[in-house]
Amino acid sequence: MKIQYQDSNTTIFESALYQTTSTVINLENFILIVDPNWLPIEIKTIQLHVEKIRNSKPIYLLFTHSDYDHIIGYRAFPEAKIIASEAFQNNPEKEKIIAQINNFDDENYILRNYPIEYPIVDIVVSDDFQKIEIEGTEIVFCQAVGHNSDGIFTMIPSLGIFIAGDYLCEVEFPFIYVSGFLYLETLKKALKIIEQFEPEILIAGHGLFSKNKKEMFDRTKEAEKYINDLIFSIKNKTPFDLDTFLKKYHFPENMIAAHKKNLEILKEELNET
Ligand SMILES: [Zn+2]
Repeated sequence: MKIQYQDSNTTIFESALYQTTSTVINLENFILIVDPNWLPIEIKTIQLHVEKIRNSKPIYLLFTHSDYDHIIGYRAFPEAKIIASEAFQNNPEKEKIIAQINNFDDENYILRNYPIEYPIVDIVVSDDFQKIEIEGTEIVFCQAVGHNSDGIFTMIPSLGIFIAGDYLCEVEFPFIYVSGFLYLETLKKALKIIEQFEPEILIAGHGLFSKNKKEMFDRTKEAEKYINDLIFSIKNKTPFDLDTFLKKYHFPENMIAAHKKNLEILKEELNET
């Protein structure tokens, strides 16, 4: 499995699928694993890495949100304590998400040596800038809604690590599954986190990390601009220059589909259907 980034505490693995990241952080008193995914051999790589570094420390699994690609490796770490949002815990579509994993495995002839289940949350995040001490390390969480309905931002101030889930990805523009307006609110929180905590590293759910403060701001501003431009074009019935916009991105087919979905959701929010 590709290792996208590594330093003395942190390893960012990158899946062959959708450049989805899995991060392992070796903290003083525990190992934090973020969204272990996708393929069995990739999950195995992460398990082996964790075994190598853990030194009998407890394992915690953080789920940035409940999209099926991010929870697919849950039971590969059966002893882990689970951190996720309250909305994640109460997600009404648990069965649908599990069905998506089973369909994916079915379509691709994938067998796993662990069961597919929806995570049961031990440490529940329910607020913005909520501080939770885990095994002696203070972690700051924020609700991050808009992409989906149950995301969280995670900031580990002692290591300068900001885990953004599927926000602030460089490989894709905002994928809005829930609300463009809530997405904008979430981006404001991201900006606040970057300003307040000055992270050393931003870890995104897909594609490359960033260690560059300007780039962190730029990713936030570009996401904001995209959503605001879309809102403007819907309200004023002016065209959105999709061709120029898409030049920045690979994978045009997927991007066009995501853009169309964004349009649909924003039109509904603006009562312009
Ligand atoms: Zn994702």
